[in-house]
Amino acid sequence: MTWTIMEALQWSDDQIKNIPDEEIKDATYGIKYFEPDPWGPKLTTREWAAMHQLEQRLKTIEAEPKPKRQRPEPILCSCGHYDNHPMSTSTGTSCANCYDDMSW
Ligand SMILES: [Zn+2]
Repeated sequence: MTWTIMEALQWSDDQIKNIPDEEIKDATYGIKYFEPDPWGPKLTTREWAAMHQLEQRLKTIEAEPKPKRQRPEPILCSCGHYDNHPMSTSTGTSCANCYDDMSW
């Protein structure tokens, strides 16, 4: 991430919209636990709006369904057995059990 939350608060709506998802994710901690410096200048309405927008973007990204892990389909190997992760040998594909016999 090449920016800080305080910097992002100065950006326009469009700029915040265009922050890549990856960078929003990288900033997750900063966005979730953002607290304005109690001794610093108070945030302006615009800055709060920007903060809110960052939070919304983070929520949207977090709400996206994660890609489901695909169950590997057993594949028929040259040795005649099925294996989820066939290994290739000099004589064809092989299941884990036959690998030693096949790789001569
Ligand atoms: Zn086999």
